[in-house]
Amino acid sequence: MRFDGRVVIVTGAGSGIGRVIAQRFAGVGAKVAVVDWLPDRADAVTSEITTAGGSALSVHADVSSRRDVDAFVGLVASELGPVDVLVNNAAIAEGDDVLQMDEATWDRDVAVVLRSVFLCCKAVLPSMIERHTGSIVNISSVNAITALGNEAYSAAKAGMINLTQGIAVRYGAHGIRCNAIAPGTIRTPIWQARIDRDPVVFQRLLKWYPLGRVGEPDDIANATMFLASDDASWITGVVLPVDGGLLAGNYRMTRELLAEAGNEKLDS
Ligand code: NAP
Repeated sequence: MRFDGRVVIVTGAGSGIGRVIAQRFAGVGAKVAVVDWLPDRADAVTSEITTAGGSALSVHADVSSRRDVDAFVGLVASELGPVDVLVNNAAIAEGDDVLQMDEATWDRDVAVVLRSVFLCCKAVLPSMIERHTGSIVNISSVNAITALGNEAYSAAKAGMINLTQGIAVRYGAHGIRCNAIAPGTIRTPIWQARIDRDPVVFQRLLKWYPLGRVGEPDDIANATMFLASDDASWITGVVLPVDGGLLAGNYRMTRELLAEAGNEKLDS
């Protein structure tokens, strides 16, 4: 699978899954915009890519801000060319239980997870429509599909799925495809705080995964590249779980997670 000369934007590419997606696209010839709100991280990933012989542009932007998004999409077009692929990957998950979450936390999670997708799609669609080509891949989560905690994040991830379908249907006739991926547990820095509290958390999670392991960023990069590629030219509006089989049956997992969080009475 080659992406020679294609322009790919990856948001939240300074860490974890986004970092690997950016590296993998660059490794097969794409010109990659490495977008992160932390300049050091975007710069570091960009230099990893260029040192390996790839082509990348470091972009510092908050993807929940319309001003930042419009500015960076313009910059990418002028520095790299019109955008062929947009991967909406940036996210935060600060709020958990609805009763304990304040409005500001809700708004921040929803803005970074969902408004960012609206803003980034809005910014790239006009040129995709003009060129009658474009592929958007939205990194959602298994949290979008079943209750696993982090209610603001999860509701926003669910909204992302419907937005994926809406864009796929509305702009399919313009040659644009839009798909979503729902990852299960992926070994990235986002888990570090939980590993600090519970060093064997991944080992404990294994029992819920039919394939017997948690995921790696490359598992998500593989699916993202496939959906972005011409090999998926008749696939649009889908949500692809990349979750080691978790969603095939996780009732017990949900109950145990709620119990761990202190909601024992729900674990009847
Ligand atoms: P990660 O390691 O935290 O990487 C995300 C990057 O995006 C971080 O550098 C983060 O910076 C940055 N970011 C956050 N908000 C941003 C904003 N407004 N503008 C620009 N950059 C921003 O996360 P990950 O684990 O790789 O997750 C990547 C995606 O996969 C997310 O959409 C996540 O919801 C999804 N996912 C992950 C898992 C998993 O188990 N890891 C499971 C299901 C779905 P900060 O670190 O400062 O926030």
